[in-house]
Amino acid sequence: MQFSRKILDAAKTAEIKCTDAFLRIEDICQHNSRKVLDAFIKNRVAASHFSGTTGYGYDDAGRDNLDRIFADIFGTEDALVRHNFISGTHALSTALFGVLRPNDTLLAVTGKPYDTLDEVIGASGKTGNGSLSDFGINYAEIPLIDGKIDINAVIGALKNDNNIKVVYIQRSGGYSARAALTSEEIGAVARAAKQIKPSVIVMVDNCYGEFTEKYEPTELQADMAIGSLIKNAGGGLCDTGGYIVGSSKLIELCSYRLTSVGMGKEVGCTLGQLKAMYQGIFMAPSVTADAVKSAVFASALFEALGIDVFPSSDTPRSDIITTIAFGDRDKLISFVQGIQMGSPVDSYVCPEPWAMPGYSDEVIMAAGAFTQGASIELSCDAPIRPPYVAYLQGGLTYHTAKAGIMLAADRMFKK
Ligand SMILES: *Cc1c(COP(=O)(O)O)cnc(C)c1O
Repeated sequence: MQFSRKILDAAKTAEIKCTDAFLRIEDICQHNSRKVLDAFIKNRVAASHFSGTTGYGYDDAGRDNLDRIFADIFGTEDALVRHNFISGTHALSTALFGVLRPNDTLLAVTGKPYDTLDEVIGASGKTGNGSLSDFGINYAEIPLIDGKIDINAVIGALKNDNNIKVVYIQRSGGYSARAALTSEEIGAVARAAKQIKPSVIVMVDNCYGEFTEKYEPTELQADMAIGSLIKNAGGGLCDTGGYIVGSSKLIELCSYRLTSVGMGKEVGCTLGQLKAMYQGIFMAPSVTADAVKSAVFASALFEALGIDVFPSSDTPRSDIITTIAFGDRDKLISFVQGIQMGSPVDSYVCPEPWAMPGYSDEVIMAAGAFTQGASIELSCDAPIRPPYVAYLQGGLTYHTAKAGIMLAADRMFKK
């Protein structure tokens, strides 16, 4: 593996610049690793918990114990951790349909939610497709102000609309140029909302956020959190799946939506998935820490190379995404192609910008991952439009992600 002098020097400078950030990340990782190990010990995990069930999946002790472990880690009464969730969007959709009823209002307080929820909410305006809107569930949205939740507007909305049942918060910036919200910030909004309306449900899209900080939003007054197991919480080992954590009552409602009313979480076989799910959550704090270190390194490297990045290398993170603004179509494309070339799987494939359903511009994606589409693994995607921004995330290990990012940067300069 050969790098140019320019990249080797920039990487050296970058890594020195990361020293404080890496110490901070290690401290968070230590805290979260203890939290996870503690949950394993407390819940007496045994080899028999990995064996799984078939058919109806009655009395699946491994499945039920994994729910208790997630509940302990996230500081909630209960959890629904299932390979049957086909993605984060599916888990989020299950949570929304699980708790909302006709005439309720869903209030999104971090602006427009992640793109894939447009159709779930019914924001796209289609009717007759079974969206929340189709079932008479109202939707309102409060934009962020300078990347922060407009708390006065949230309070005002709660006072004005008695039907608001769910206050919806997206922790990660996702594919927008805003910083992720911290668990502290989310907790402050949850406390303020409950002062106005104690029964309100504060629901957090936790995708990309898990284990990036010492505390999860649900440890700080949020009622529910939802995420994907092919991101942080799966530790790079889950083949598929998602989770919902929250109070017993809310989890029961979500389980009725996932399976059927009355059966809920008592059924659902786990096939051969449990061992990877246990091992995945066990590894998750470390794998996430490596992904955050990779993100910080990427910022520092591009700072050293004079390219705009967001967030900067010295900003504490609460998600794993780094945004790199190349300002040039060809640079962007060669960088994304370089990430693919620096991946452990499909490194010989060269991605090209292409039209994608649901996107108005062409998109280029690099994902040389063991698990298809897993973005806890090093991955990068970019819409082809000014200012030619790449969204970079993941990296199962810091050292391989660092090498992949250096290869990609090198390729871009050589081109
Ligand atoms: C990944 C993600 C989702 C869910 O996306 P899936 O691809 O369906 O797992 C939702 N919100 C955010 C912020 C995400 O990053």
